[in-house]
Parts: sequence; structure tokens; C-alpha cells
Amino acid sequence: MRSFKPDVDFILWTGDTILHLKPENINHQMNVDIFNNVTNLLKSTFPRTPVYPSFGNHDTDLTDQFEPRNTLLYNQAWSRWRSWINDDTQEATCRKGGYYTVKASPYLRIIVLNTILYYKRNKQVTSDGDPAGQFRWLVEALQYARKQKEKVIITAHIPLGVQPNGETELYKHQNDRLIAISNQYSDVIVAMHFGHEHTDAFKVLTDEKGVPTVPIFLAPSVTPLGYSLSHNPGIRLIKYNRITGLHLEIIQYYLDVEAANIAGTASWELEYTTSGAYGIKNLSPASLYSLVNRMKAADSQEFKSFWKHYVVTPPRSLYKECESKCHARVFCRFTKLTESDFAKCLQEFDVDNIQKFWRWFFRR
Ligand SMILES: [Zn+2]
Repeated sequence: MRSFKPDVDFILWTGDTILHLKPENINHQMNVDIFNNVTNLLKSTFPRTPVYPSFGNHDTDLTDQFEPRNTLLYNQAWSRWRSWINDDTQEATCRKGGYYTVKASPYLRIIVLNTILYYKRNKQVTSDGDPAGQFRWLVEALQYARKQKEKVIITAHIPLGVQPNGETELYKHQNDRLIAISNQYSDVIVAMHFGHEHTDAFKVLTDEKGVPTVPIFLAPSVTPLGYSLSHNPGIRLIKYNRITGLHLEIIQYYLDVEAANIAGTASWELEYTTSGAYGIKNLSPASLYSLVNRMKAADSQEFKSFWKHYVVTPPRSLYKECESKCHARVFCRFTKLTESDFAKCLQEFDVDNIQKFWRWFFRR
């Protein structure tokens, strides 16, 4: 990224820095060494740029288990990252739950959440409370930002909403709460940025009338480690309006791993820009929502393009098309952020397909 653009305003580091291994193969010293290495590498590569890190579910000694109270992990993170956060008023929440807020410019505030406190696999928290008081704090931070006329970017590791399998990764109560708070403060929140899924995606939050309110971006991972799909590594640059916070464009870079192995050298290249790939002028909720509407058909140019980017342009030998059933799941996920809304959307798709089939059948 330094070779593409060395003078960025800030960097969002969206977590899962520690190896994705079984708990018996990792220990606390590895955690310390890896975090120190990556922190130092970022500091030496971008010496004048603040980095705002969030915790991933793998970033602890016992995978997925994050406590809603002061722990060694949070204390060490505060020592490591306090020079970036550069605001000692954030020490208490960093030490208590790994979350904080920073005024990044006179117009823009960054709120970094620890969504692992809401993760279904985290057995250190209850499924219905307010772990580490993060929700109460978030509402206060958003109220303050509204009063100060600041715009807010929220960032964390695990996103709200559902996965393509139709399930939320966060406890239902916590997912619902995040949706409600985000809608209540959609005049303040300009965007949300997450990691976790390793693939390149976005969602659009809508209010109860179906009006698009907040854009949600999921960045692909820097490693090619995949779960169900093969994909290349990616890093992204975001162009935004410094006064309004409006996101204008994603400039996505990637590494073609197969080509790099053949050449014996890694060459990061531009993968796509949102204006070039989709013809959209900005990434406002309305603009993304209209893009989603153009992806309603699995064979639309826009959806084909989205799907290729979703898996970060893999080699042809590993590429799998996303047709019919896959498309319905990916499509419903764009705007349906609860399990029940997602299930309803899928049903409508099936009805659609069945009707189309019968119309086609009778025409013959
Ligand atoms: Zn993760």
C-alpha cells in the first residue's frame, strides 16, 4: 500500500492477526510476538499515519473467547496501541473491553468496537446483555458526535447481518441492537468497515420503511486462507470526502498468488475500482442500494462482476460461478440483516423461480 499511496489519513486494521490454529498450537507468547511484529511493521512502514486496530476472534490465546472485563490481552494492547489512539481518555474502555473512539479530524470520528463480545462462539458473555457496557458507551459516543456535528465511521472485526448460510454470527439480541442503534444514528454514521469473512462484500442497512441508511463494507483478507472458497489476498484504499465523510470510491488491490508463484515474486496490482466496475459515482446508501437492485438477476453484468471480486479474482481453475441458489443467498444478504428477513427474501426468490419455470413451461 505504501507503494500505491504512502500519505493516507489513517489505516483501519480489522483484526484476526494471530494464526488461525487450534488452541493447543498457540500460546500467549506467540500472541505477544505476532502483535508486536505487526504493530512495529505498520509503525515503520507508515511512521506518520495513525492506525486504528480492532480485535478479531483469533486474536486471543483461547480462540473466540473474549472476556467483558479487564484482561492481560487488553492491557497489553493498550500499551502497544496508545501512541496511535493518542488520547488517554480512551484508556478505561480499552482496558475494560478492547473498544475506543478517536477524533480523526475536525469533521470525522472513528468508533472502534469489539464485536467479539457479541459473537455466538464466545462463551465468556451472555447472549442478551450489554457486555463490558459497550452498547451504552456506543450510544453516548454517537450522541456526542451528533451534538458536535461530527461524522462517524464505525469499524470492528465481525460484521452485523447474516452470512450467506442465513445465520447471524452475532447473538440475535446483539445483532438486533446494532441494527437499531445504527438506524437511530444514520444521520451521523457515514460507513461501517469490517473484516472476518475473508471475502470482498458489502451490505446496505435499511430502516423499517426500506429506505437505505448506512453502507457496510467487508474487506477481503490479506492472506489467501479461505474456508469454503479459494480467493486471493486483497488490500483496499478508500477515497472519501474529508468534510462530509461520504465514501466516494473503493480502490481494491490484489495479489494473484498463482502468477506470483510462477514468477517467484509478488506483484500487487489494481483489481477494480467501484466507479469503474459498477459505474457508481459514490458509495452512499442510495447509490449502493440502486446497485443492489441491478444485481437482482444472477446473469446481470453487475452481479457477475461482484461475484468475481467477492473471491478476489481467483485463477480460472479455482473459480466457481454463483448461479441461481447461490445468487439468491448472496443477493438477499445485501439488504436483509436479520435471520427472519433473510429467510423471507429467500422464499420470495424461490416463488419467483417457480413462477418463471411454469410460465416458461406453458409457453412451450
Ligand atoms: Zn474472524
